[in-house]
Amino acid sequence: MAGWTVEVDRAACLGCGVCVAYAPGSFEQDDEGQAVFLDPPADPEPDIRMAVDGCPTGALRLSAAAADDRDRADYEKKA
Ligand code: SF4
Repeated sequence: MAGWTVEVDRAACLGCGVCVAYAPGSFEQDDEGQAVFLDPPADPEPDIRMAVDGCPTGALRLSAAAADDRDRADYEKKA
């Protein structure tokens, strides 16, 4: 996932921990229970995608830096 990160919408995060369950090497919960993405992530991409897709509130979003537009285009082709 070079060039990729996961954005956490803290207003939408309920602190349920589903993302941590799917990808414990890539997410943790802070003192308020809010999800934090650990960059660089320590889980395979499919696990991170499951975490993003499994969030019950849609608080997680895969995103890429502007400099990585080519990677993003490649990723979106696979999605
Ligand atoms: S799965 Fe979604 S709502 Fe639950 S802790 Fe992770 S980001 Fe927050």
